[in-house]
Amino acid sequence: MTELAAECDVLVIGAGAAGLSAAYEAAADGNRVVVIDANARPGGQYHRRGVKDPPYFPAGTTDAQRWANIATYMGWQAYAADLDGDLVVVRLRGDERHRNDLHAVSTRVLVVATGAVDRQLAIPGWQRPGVMAGGGAQSLIKGSGVLPGRRTLVTGTGPFLLAVTAAIVQAGGEVAAVIEANQPRRLIRHAAQLMPTGLMKSGEALKFAAILARHRIPYLTGHRVTEIHGAEDDAAVASAVVHRVDEQWRPIEGSARTFEVDCVTLGFGFTAQLDLLMQLDCEAVQSADGGLAVCVDDNQMTSVPRVLAAGETTGVGGVDLAAVEGRIAGIQACHLLRTDGQRTQPDSKVMTGLYRRRGHLRRFAKALALSFPTPTAWVAEQTGDTMVCRCEEVSLTTVLEARDDLGATDARAIKLLTRAGMGWCQGRMCSYTVEGLCPGPTSVASQKAAANRPIGVPIPLGAVAKQGRA
Ligand SMILES: Cc1cc2nc3c(=O)[nH]c(=O)nc-3n(C[C@H](O)[C@H](O)[C@H](O)COP(=O)(O)OP(=O)(O)OC[C@H]3O[C@@H](n4cnc5c(N)ncnc54)[C@H](O)[C@@H]3O)c2cc1C
Repeated sequence: MTELAAECDVLVIGAGAAGLSAAYEAAADGNRVVVIDANARPGGQYHRRGVKDPPYFPAGTTDAQRWANIATYMGWQAYAADLDGDLVVVRLRGDERHRNDLHAVSTRVLVVATGAVDRQLAIPGWQRPGVMAGGGAQSLIKGSGVLPGRRTLVTGTGPFLLAVTAAIVQAGGEVAAVIEANQPRRLIRHAAQLMPTGLMKSGEALKFAAILARHRIPYLTGHRVTEIHGAEDDAAVASAVVHRVDEQWRPIEGSARTFEVDCVTLGFGFTAQLDLLMQLDCEAVQSADGGLAVCVDDNQMTSVPRVLAAGETTGVGGVDLAAVEGRIAGIQACHLLRTDGQRTQPDSKVMTGLYRRRGHLRRFAKALALSFPTPTAWVAEQTGDTMVCRCEEVSLTTVLEARDDLGATDARAIKLLTRAGMGWCQGRMCSYTVEGLCPGPTSVASQKAAANRPIGVPIPLGAVAKQGRA
């Protein structure tokens, strides 16, 4: 078993842009910093590396001595966190190589930078082999050098669809079309909020436009994938039907088009991974994209003392924002340890620059979220056999019966009555659909209840037994 520290000054969960930036800053005073990540290699989602790629270090983090003071443990998943006096205790489970190993780390300051997962919506046929999240396709390419399919239809909403498309074609795959459910011209309504970050990002947008043009990939806006078919029941994807849609994403009759593809990617934004923060009872808020985010103050501190959060956990905002928030969280972690927990503001030229940059990036993220909304009323209007929860095979009819006949009013009640969200992924894939099927607007309380998993990932019984014997 890997020798893991039992105690540290700063524990960072997540080795993406936010977590590693936080760790680097937190190590400035010679603090004992430990970074934990479930992946095999540091980098998180955006900077995911294959086995042969050089390791990822956030830009500007060049002090080798500081990195030498940071202990990074890959292949460990944090599944629970609780407070123990002035310490935070985080419980870890090993990955496939040592899956029966459990471990606990006590820390004086915890930084949670666990990122996000793709947000999915149930569509008839989305349980077929060959349908995957856009991020899943990207992870296959970046992490393993494997194409998701021979000919892929990239669907959903937001600029991320273009990143997925670029990844596929650059890896030698074919993209049949990009199906964007919104009208990107909505960006104009938010032009003021998009600046100045939008100017810097325009180069990226041009790069994506050039890729679409060079590979002659149609980019259909105001269209949505409505059905995914295989050659027979339970067979892999063979084709997908796409409709033109109205503002609420309802299909317009007579506008159906069929694409012959063996892979469909779905991507409707991202959902922050908040398991640990919800277990610690941190305050949360609904962000502009309708998802739940943890509340943080100017210095990335949550409502729970000594618990900080950075990156997508505070609201989905992209990799540059994640890195800036990580730096602020790391600087604040140092400051907390120096001043023994007093909530004073670090005040320096560096901080002013970081706050300003974070402000610009947050405004940009909010404008993007408002330009690419994800309505859900149409989900209930699909065929009754549409699978809502793929893990537990719960159909749309079953969920609607729980709502309409049994009186379920929130996602938790639907889960208890139907098992939707009780399977292997613990609702990570179906919770947005289920929330959308609940009567009335989604409340922070019900989103918190759905995100609060007392144990973040399944623990093998062998691991529990081993603990008992120790
Ligand atoms: C699937 C996916 C693909 C994306 N692709 C793009 C893209 O192409 N372009 C773009 O601009 N943006 C992309 N984004 C958004 C971008 O990844 C984020 O903005 C950026 O990576 C956020 O950095 P972060 O440090 O907050 O989180 P991440 O980079 O997601 O890092 C979080 C890390 O935490 C680890 N982790 C999570 N939970 C635990 C736990 N319980 N225990 C241990 N470790 C844990 C994860 O393994 C991960 O390495 C993508 C996001 C996702 C979810």
